[in-house]
Amino acid sequence: MPLHSKDAIVDDPVSDVYASTDLSLVMPKYRMPEQEHDPRHAYSVVHDELMLDGNSRQNLATFCQTWLDPEIHRLMDECVDKNMVDKDEYPQTAEIEARCVHMLADLWNSPAAANTLGCSTTGSSEAAMLGGLAMKWRWRKRMHEAGKPADKPNMICGPVQICWHKFARYFDVELREIPLEGDRLIMNAEEVIKRCDENTIGVVPTLGVTFTCQYEPVKAVNDALEQLQRETGLDIPIHVDGASGAFLAPFCAPELEWDFRLPRVKSINTSGHKFGLAPLGVGWVVWRDAEELPEELIFDVNYLGGNMPTFALNFSRPGGQIVAQYYNFLRLGKEGYRKIHTACYDTARFLADEIGKMGPFKVLFDGDMKAGIPALSWTIKEGFDTHGYSLFDLADRLRSRGWQVPAYSMPANRQDLVIQRILVRHGVSRDLGALLIEDMKRCLEHFGKHPITSPLTSEEATGFHH
Ligand SMILES: *Cc1c(COP(=O)(O)O)cnc(C)c1O
Repeated sequence: MPLHSKDAIVDDPVSDVYASTDLSLVMPKYRMPEQEHDPRHAYSVVHDELMLDGNSRQNLATFCQTWLDPEIHRLMDECVDKNMVDKDEYPQTAEIEARCVHMLADLWNSPAAANTLGCSTTGSSEAAMLGGLAMKWRWRKRMHEAGKPADKPNMICGPVQICWHKFARYFDVELREIPLEGDRLIMNAEEVIKRCDENTIGVVPTLGVTFTCQYEPVKAVNDALEQLQRETGLDIPIHVDGASGAFLAPFCAPELEWDFRLPRVKSINTSGHKFGLAPLGVGWVVWRDAEELPEELIFDVNYLGGNMPTFALNFSRPGGQIVAQYYNFLRLGKEGYRKIHTACYDTARFLADEIGKMGPFKVLFDGDMKAGIPALSWTIKEGFDTHGYSLFDLADRLRSRGWQVPAYSMPANRQDLVIQRILVRHGVSRDLGALLIEDMKRCLEHFGKHPITSPLTSEEATGFHH
């Protein structure tokens, strides 16, 4: 086969990928190449470059799924062409989405699961925007009806995930984030009530705070808001950010009242791709009944054939994740979810116990399934002399073995408190946990022999996500 002639760089299809002429060059990085490449070769280049990403299974920072059934891989492949927005072309995928919404409404104890409204989203962030918008629209209507100005909406929350900061900024709502105080690292009812007024569109407790992994007290907030209405007439709804917890509490803490059992809870969001065990790219938002979702927010689309109501920030969106979510519901049932999550909680408690025994650390959350998500968080004991290292140094050192165990400082008013956190997800086994503990001990030994004279600080320790 003639090679090396300028206009015919064609490799022999039987030749080894890495011995090909195609791959004897460094690929251009920021300009599109002039010529085509053999798909096998292009694939190898891309595939190999992806090796430089971290190993997702060792990423103990993320809440998102990093292990998926082989059947899910197959369904994802089969659904690669399915566009969620095109309910006329893919009516069965749309039906599957609707079934998932009903199953979730039922799981969250909706008094009228048949009358609930909800939809899939790309994740909890989009779901939070939709939940927040519905609250803002309902509040504005109430204000207009009362003949009052509706130009200064506010929302009350604890230490929320960044999506609520985005919601507040993008949609012009004042965020009244309750500052942390001493050992109180989440909201409480008293602090919520202090901030309520007639411009409050709603309160957003988080079921599984991203910083410490704890559940915020939804029932106490519900009861306090009921009392507030009796005393002042203020009628303030709750939207629960159940990104993690809404897929955990129903299975592992069924007595905990945080959902539609509480009358103030009007809507709930969750991430299918976190403890819903679906692949990346699906979230859910559900309203307790149709009245809670203002009609003005729903658009009718007619040009795809049929007349389709939609409420979403996106238009075209992949359907595979939703199909995989439905597969999980059928495959696992409540029993399967309970077993998987319980195993994760057990591993979290095992890790919390081991880390507590190491000496330098005070465990802040130990994976108690009634109080939070399968995760743990800790800080360095007050007054403990580490001979220099900070939790940022520990995180940095663990990275050399591929582990991502993020360290970060807390939000206001506890920015002084630096903590470290491990998420235990499906696929983080007890055995893997034990290997991590061994590596942590080795890190501490290393710091003992090679004391850190200039510890890493929050500003320098970048690259961790929460
Ligand atoms: C992860 C998370 C979000 C954002 O969810 P995505 O699915 O990543 O968009 C929002 N709130 C909480 C509490 C979270 O843990």
